[in-house]
Amino acid sequence: MSALPTKLETLAIHGGTPVRETLLPYGRQSLNEEDIQAVVEVLRSDWLTTGPKVGEFEERFAAWVGAKCGVSFSSGTAALHAAAFAAGLGPGDEAITTPMTFCATANCVLYQGAKPVFADVSADTLNLDPGEVAKKLSSRTKAILAVDYAGHPADLDALLAVTRQRGIPLIEDACHALGANYRGKRVGGISDMTVFSFHPVKHLTTGEGGMVTTNDARLAETLRRFRNHGISSEARERQQSGQWFYEMVLLGFNYRLTDIACALGLSQLEKLDVNLARRREIAARYTAAFRDLPAVIVPTVRDGVNPAWHLYPIRLKLEMLLAGRGEIFRALRAENIGVNVHYIPVHRHPYYRERFKSKEGYPVAEGTYERLISLPMFHAMTAQDVEDVIHALRKVMLHYEGERSH
Ligand SMILES: *Cc1c(COP(=O)(O)O)cnc(C)c1O
Repeated sequence: MSALPTKLETLAIHGGTPVRETLLPYGRQSLNEEDIQAVVEVLRSDWLTTGPKVGEFEERFAAWVGAKCGVSFSSGTAALHAAAFAAGLGPGDEAITTPMTFCATANCVLYQGAKPVFADVSADTLNLDPGEVAKKLSSRTKAILAVDYAGHPADLDALLAVTRQRGIPLIEDACHALGANYRGKRVGGISDMTVFSFHPVKHLTTGEGGMVTTNDARLAETLRRFRNHGISSEARERQQSGQWFYEMVLLGFNYRLTDIACALGLSQLEKLDVNLARRREIAARYTAAFRDLPAVIVPTVRDGVNPAWHLYPIRLKLEMLLAGRGEIFRALRAENIGVNVHYIPVHRHPYYRERFKSKEGYPVAEGTYERLISLPMFHAMTAQDVEDVIHALRKVMLHYEGERSH
């Protein structure tokens, strides 16, 4: 084990030596020679887009998560937009969602002219609190849009009980949760539609990219049309059948994912199990190492759940510390640890603040936001990277815990 500080070291922010010489990012991709070769092969082939790699990636991905159908998109955000469309959201409708997410989750409801209605989160997982969701239901509620925050699945059974009873879809934004397990199943085949992102910080990357998985073939068909201008057949089918005729049947977009990206996705999928195991190992090491830092609360894992660990967000017990989150954040950055904050609650962004005033607020989301810091978490982290994070957090916490003796 590396030398952990037992006495106060001078913080880098105060002129001391940083724990690392170079910045460790909070997340990043890892590509190997096979990934590069897979892309090069497509570049030499006939199909750069709408070719065979698209369907192959969709099928393999859907099978991996345990869903019947997969429909790829040019980004996770495009996939969310398509899911909001396929859910039938439109003007006058509401979708209940969480404020503790990236703004794209709620934006997709607005794209459809519907209204996102925020419900507060549970204090342990920071996922939608089903009790709060129940309070926000109205005759206009046409979908629930849950997020698997940090990679810990939302309370899916409780949410499904509500959506089934009302005959509305549960959309799951699982952009953090590729590979997460919930009560014996993988995320992706549980909700009516599950949305994934292939941005470089996520578990699997295609540069930009996304996917919706579903067990409902009719929803899959709508999703496929939506990503291709609303056209009812695909270019390659027409070429193969020697036909020119096609019909545009709904107002869609060009949200297609290229064969170049899908080839990268297929290659990345091969390494998903190993990468997921590595993230779980890092999370376990962090959780064990922070047990004796009294001002740090580590993420909770509920029974029956195995998270995918897109993020490792800690919470600070600010009442035990001599500084606020801002200063502790800057101190960790000065040690060259690329900490981040996930998330500024969506309703706090100016665009939302001006349009969605809430009387009662979201006390759990807001109270927790002030204390959150995401530590670096990505599968390519080396053992030394992990120990550097532990060293830096310990160093900074010992400093700001002030009078406590160690
Ligand atoms: C990454 C992410 C998105 C958006 O995905 P993009 O592929 O970047 O468009 C949406 N929701 C959540 C929770 C995310 O983490």
